[in-house]
Amino acid sequence: MDSRLSKSSYQNGKQCHLRLWHHFHARDLATPDDDAKQLVFDTGHEVGELACKRYPGGYSIAHDHKHQQEALEETRRVVDAATAPALFEAAFEHEHVFVRADVLERLPEGGWRLVEVKSTANLKDVFVPDVGVQLWVLRGAGLDVREAGVLTLDRDYVYDGVQLDVNALFKLHPVLDKATLLLKDIGGETREMRAMLAQSEAPAIAAGKQCVKPYPCPYYAHCTRDLPRPAHGIGELPSLSKTKRRKLDEAGIDEIKDIPDSFALNHLHQIVRTAVLQGRIQIHGNLREALAAIKPPVRHLDFETFAPAIPRFAGTRPYGTIPFLFSVHTEHDGQPPAHADYLHEGDDDPRPMFAERLLDALGEEGAICVYSPYEARMLRELAAAVPRRAKALAGIEARLFDLLPVVRNCCYHPDFRGSFSLKSVLPALAPGLGYDDLAIADGQMAAALYQRALADDNLAERQQTFAALRAYCKRDTLATLELRRALTALALPAV
Ligand code: SF4
Repeated sequence: MDSRLSKSSYQNGKQCHLRLWHHFHARDLATPDDDAKQLVFDTGHEVGELACKRYPGGYSIAHDHKHQQEALEETRRVVDAATAPALFEAAFEHEHVFVRADVLERLPEGGWRLVEVKSTANLKDVFVPDVGVQLWVLRGAGLDVREAGVLTLDRDYVYDGVQLDVNALFKLHPVLDKATLLLKDIGGETREMRAMLAQSEAPAIAAGKQCVKPYPCPYYAHCTRDLPRPAHGIGELPSLSKTKRRKLDEAGIDEIKDIPDSFALNHLHQIVRTAVLQGRIQIHGNLREALAAIKPPVRHLDFETFAPAIPRFAGTRPYGTIPFLFSVHTEHDGQPPAHADYLHEGDDDPRPMFAERLLDALGEEGAICVYSPYEARMLRELAAAVPRRAKALAGIEARLFDLLPVVRNCCYHPDFRGSFSLKSVLPALAPGLGYDDLAIADGQMAAALYQRALADDNLAERQQTFAALRAYCKRDTLATLELRRALTALALPAV
């Protein structure tokens, strides 16, 4: 077996040796990437290509990952020729660690700057070991690397709608000093990883904090498949502090039902515990009063948005949020609710038409129920993007009624399992209305599929995705409608 490490397998090994072992010996045990993860990869690729434009005259090493030896030789040739001002995907190897550097920039005073390109809009600590292992390999292979940095998108950049300025779009974060501090350990770490990989048995490592930090591990479902699942574990106590968690762990308490009366819990945790012990919903606030501000005609509103890494519309920034779909349900006494929606199907800026259609759909009076402060924030951003409709949009915002605080402050059902998200609350309060029958499971997936559909030349597939998106958003507003009905019923005095 070729146990040559790469920069990503080194990162896997730093997170957990078992993750690295699985990566080499049992990759099929990983949970497959979903659409949202795929979008992250595609975005990384797109951002990487754009970053290269900052280095005019740069040379891209053509040999791919299946031709490592050729890539090493090609790199050496281009480095020695001393003509190209920068190399993209330059290949180096040192002590069985093989890396491809995103950008290698020739410095005017001699030597090189190593640049790792990331599609995020900020520098994260976890990027430093990525640079560290490359620095170790490049210097080990004899390259004079004098500077090192991480190139991210810059959220301060505002696109003018005409031409992307690749120099202003990116920001270089120097990390040479931090990466240098890691160098002394990397040789030992990589030798240990390769020795571990040479074993036929997987290392015995239990699931723990390392499974989610710095990245969620794709082997989590496999590693935890046989672990006992408590009916209501202490993880269901919302925002449980580290101190309380440690005290419960020290007392050997895994289940909420085993927490003794004498253990100090905050108000909400006491309610959660009572709900679990009694196995039924707890009404702990004045629901009737909380719902009284909802004036007819009652509407229900939900937005779907996407946030392109590379800004596409004038006035937007990297990862600026753009609404592309809304759904509105309007309640009518004794009649089925009326539904309206709008999905922007073109490649142009959705916001002007979105604002018009939204104002048409919401009328001028009555409460508009939402579930989270997200719609209010989006309305404010929409008003800034479409100033001629700002006043009308502010009027919409003033009519919003958020059902989330009502649920959080007034009731708790054991089936919430510690979460007040609509997808957790809905099945408990309005059984029978879920999302399992839909092709789209969450907002991240909706954003990923929308962006993919926009780029899809196959009209039939495009329309199929648009229909799935509409169905998903429609379910969200049907959900808040049913939730309001359920809360109203709970607020009625018992007869
Ligand atoms: S799930 Fe956790 S224990 Fe299992 S391989 Fe991943 S990080 Fe290691």
